[in-house]
Amino acid sequence: MPAAILVVEDEPAIQELLALNLEHAGHSVLRARDAEQAAKLVRHALPDLILLDWMLPGQSGAAFARDLRRDERTKQVPIIMLTARGQEQDKVAGLDAGADDYVTKPFSPRELLARIKAVLRRRAPQRTEEPAEVGGLRLDPATHRVTADSRNLELGPTEFRLLHFLMTHPERVHSRAQLLDRVWGDHVFLEERTVDVHIRRLRKALEPTGHNRLIETVRGSGYRLAAMPTSEV
Ligand code: CA
Repeated sequence: MPAAILVVEDEPAIQELLALNLEHAGHSVLRARDAEQAAKLVRHALPDLILLDWMLPGQSGAAFARDLRRDERTKQVPIIMLTARGQEQDKVAGLDAGADDYVTKPFSPRELLARIKAVLRRRAPQRTEEPAEVGGLRLDPATHRVTADSRNLELGPTEFRLLHFLMTHPERVHSRAQLLDRVWGDHVFLEERTVDVHIRRLRKALEPTGHNRLIETVRGSGYRLAAMPTSEV
């Protein structure tokens, strides 16, 4: 499944090469030349993954990674560091700073894409093609189908993405702002009411098999997908 990837790299030729490879693989790419520009983009919309160069003008990649990990909103964003070949201490420091993985330059595009896929599978399962199953509900990203009790359930594209995210992060309470960030990729220009509208539609779509009960409203906090439906509705 395509992901929104933020590339933070100051060398234009390498940035271009990264962007081309990622776009060719179906991802959408945001570009920043330094940490300051990257921080601005992240404030506006949370990417699915950040490719972060170690050597940047101004704040270093590692310092930026640490900033991201300290912030409640960004601490879960997968980060892959780009380091120069042979800089063993950079790799260690990068992982210490909270990066999920690193790739050495010059990189092989195929290796880079494989590492991105592995990190996304681990950290952002809603961006992979792996089917998800919770409480008898099955969602298959490859065929775009949701089934339960051997019935097909009809979902709109936004409800599908929302359900996919909830099913890959069950039992956790997600605030409306978090859902806007993670499902819509924008928490600035969309109103939190948008989430309520799509939760309502999602529940309606799951009603035929009673799986609407999986989606719980947590008063004052947000929404949660229960791994087991609550008996009292
Ligand atoms: Ca650089």
